[in-house]
Amino acid sequence: MTAPSMLAQALTHLEDAAVHLDIDTDVLEKLKYPRETTQVRLMIRMDDGSRKSFMAWRCRYDDTRGPTKGGIRFHPESNADEVETLAFWMTFKCAVMNLPYGGGKGAVRVDPHVLSKAELERLSRAYIKAFSRIIGPDRDIPAPDVYTNSMIMGWMADEYASIVGEATPAVITGKPIALGGSLGRDDATARGGYYLVRHLAANLGFKPGSRVAVQGFGNAGQHIARLLKADGYRVVAVSDSRGGVYCPDGLDVDRLIAAKQAGSVTSLAGSGGVKAITGEELVSVDCDLLVPAAFEGLIGAGNAADIRAGIVLELANGPITPEADEILAGKGVVVLPDILANAGGVTVSYFEWVQNRQGYYWTAEDVHERLRRSMEAEGAAIWQLASERRISLRRAAYVHALARLASAIEAHGTQQFFIS
Ligand code: NAD
Repeated sequence: MTAPSMLAQALTHLEDAAVHLDIDTDVLEKLKYPRETTQVRLMIRMDDGSRKSFMAWRCRYDDTRGPTKGGIRFHPESNADEVETLAFWMTFKCAVMNLPYGGGKGAVRVDPHVLSKAELERLSRAYIKAFSRIIGPDRDIPAPDVYTNSMIMGWMADEYASIVGEATPAVITGKPIALGGSLGRDDATARGGYYLVRHLAANLGFKPGSRVAVQGFGNAGQHIARLLKADGYRVVAVSDSRGGVYCPDGLDVDRLIAAKQAGSVTSLAGSGGVKAITGEELVSVDCDLLVPAAFEGLIGAGNAADIRAGIVLELANGPITPEADEILAGKGVVVLPDILANAGGVTVSYFEWVQNRQGYYWTAEDVHERLRRSMEAEGAAIWQLASERRISLRRAAYVHALARLASAIEAHGTQQFFIS
């Protein structure tokens, strides 16, 4: 028997949420399938004069609530199923936060680390050339994702401007500040998760001094460690792709960030009471809050039972498989789900798009304040829904988002409307 696709697994959340709402059959029919997925083979000239091709995708999953929005990933294992699943999650994430967007996603199957800088620029521009008719500030708005960054977004916006013949900064978010990016975008994903945890701290029994373990120490992982440490929480363990480090008295986050910038957090092991651990051991470290901030599916049926944390903050997309989710629910672990917990990134991307369209730019304080208000409002609503219906926060987040998606889809007319 072949394993279910990643999208089929993700769709179980849609079916589970629908049980809690009285929605028209049109809603599920519309949200069960991606609206359009385009696959292209990009050809670029390499530095040695040869030509090389790379498979690339852009999926616009659903645009009922507005133009589709979602990042572009450069990864050697990217595939259409993953892109469509990420676009499905974006559809729900934008609805959770009440952003006027649908969900989209893109990817190129490439290991960007083996390309020269000039090859990376040519590949980024080739992506926009290939998808220029699909994207647009009122159609589909890309952003950075795994292994893409603000400089790549700047190249892409520039390529789009040269195709359409006018500056169009709102076509892409996550740009460098000098090219129309927003202040506060850099740490937005972690900051959103931080505001959420802080707002729910009393309900969660999470207080200064509580111990935190962070899996993955890139953009999301480093910023959440920094923000929590500054509030008096103890970051006791951290891992990256090469392994991890553990110190029950708390790690020095500035030193961890410097070590990661020089290669890996593992270089700190062996001094000042810091012990080396494996990436697998990080999951079972004795702590209060576990923050998966690396990749999909790293917490599965094989290691979920080992988790000792009482709370999990999903900064990564889909870090917990459905089987692991059930194991954690059985253990009473409270999971703050990805479509809420990491939605700070797309929320500040939305702020960037608004600023580009207004031609008026906000201070970092404005951005933080608006993000805090959104995370607290949606987080509190989802917490209340979960308590009232006695369902998990993940299911409550899907119900919260599906109610918004359903009212938009139903506003075009329901079965009842057309037969009566
Ligand atoms: P990143 O590339 O900056 O960092 C990823 C980190 O994960 C790196 O430190 C890498 O060493 C580490 N890693 C890789 N494999 C690992 C493993 N097996 N165990 C432990 N660590 C491992 O990526 P990022 O932007 O921080 O994104 C991380 C996750 O957060 C992804 O799932 C991404 O989709 C999600 N996310 C990011 C944003 C954002 O704005 N950056 C927004 C929403 C969601």
